[in-house]
Amino acid sequence: MRYLSANYLFPLHISPIKEGVLQISDEGEIVNIFRNRSEVLQYKLEIFEGILCPGFVNAHCHLELSHLLGIAEKGRGFLDFLEAIQQRNSSTEIEKQNAIEKAEQEMIANGIVAVGDICNTTDTLLQKQKGNLLYYNFIETFGIHENKIDIIFTQSMELRNEFRTAGQKATISPHAPYSVPPSLMKKIIESFDDRDELLSIHMQETKEENQLFENKEGYFFDWLNGMSADVSIWESRKKLIDVLKELKNKKILLVHNTFTKKKEITENYYCTCPKANLYIENAMPDYSIFDTDKLCVGTDSLASNNSLSILEELKIIQENSHFDLNTLLKIASKNGAEALGFESLGTFENGKKPGVNLIINFSDNKITNLI
Ligand SMILES: [Zn+2]
Repeated sequence: MRYLSANYLFPLHISPIKEGVLQISDEGEIVNIFRNRSEVLQYKLEIFEGILCPGFVNAHCHLELSHLLGIAEKGRGFLDFLEAIQQRNSSTEIEKQNAIEKAEQEMIANGIVAVGDICNTTDTLLQKQKGNLLYYNFIETFGIHENKIDIIFTQSMELRNEFRTAGQKATISPHAPYSVPPSLMKKIIESFDDRDELLSIHMQETKEENQLFENKEGYFFDWLNGMSADVSIWESRKKLIDVLKELKNKKILLVHNTFTKKKEITENYYCTCPKANLYIENAMPDYSIFDTDKLCVGTDSLASNNSLSILEELKIIQENSHFDLNTLLKIASKNGAEALGFESLGTFENGKKPGVNLIINFSDNKITNLI
């Protein structure tokens, strides 16, 4: 049994406690919270400088792209980014596996305990089976040509089943509204069974996505037309968020939302990846529009970020929002755990095993510069 205390405890299901004490078992299970150090004087108290909070949940990552660190130039926009990541297959199998292992170690060192991870391949499966972190795997599906949809969908089902056979949570998820026509969206939704808890979709990462659906013009329109994409992608949807109607009340995690407006916000979970947004589009979401009980944080991949650290993402959000420290930590742990369905994570409630983070970069109720 351990008794941990710091300047503040942030249990996240209740308000922060000054000099509170966290009692945890040797297996990491939360046993009790004490409001006063004086209550546990008979035990060996471990006192730290800083704050204690539950392990972080990285709600959006692409672990399989870890070998692409530094491949895309900063601030060149989304289509340039897509072009850069086409080089994903130019690395050897060993280079990819090493990068995946290193990226996972980086997440563990940065206090991350669970990940919502986008998968197009089985490249990450070996690492995930080691059980170092919990993963919800979103099997990413897209296809802009109607005649290829059946084969694409079959491949996604095979990939999903491979992850599930390996003991992983896995759900087929649409990549984005502009890359998935309604017919494929329908197949994805129909694939749901009782093991599917939620789906993830990239949303409003660029301004031009809105333009494609609202005005049927712009560089996404030209780009898709240039590839003879199926017109049902934009003709059947008047606005970008019309796509949500096709998702039939499923639990959804909307990722990025950089160009989302307040009136478009729904009951769903929203994930922000500020460092990746700055990296690719040099833009940030308006944080005042989100319900702070439904907002989560992701790092995105090392192809669009130089680190996999939720704390670094929080630092950027802190600079661009009015969120207090408790709210920042809630979106970093509790909300992501709820969104991804990891019930034993996210708060210091008794019986959970959420992991414990000590944050030392802290003063005046703010996260200070990271080392
Ligand atoms: Zn992504």
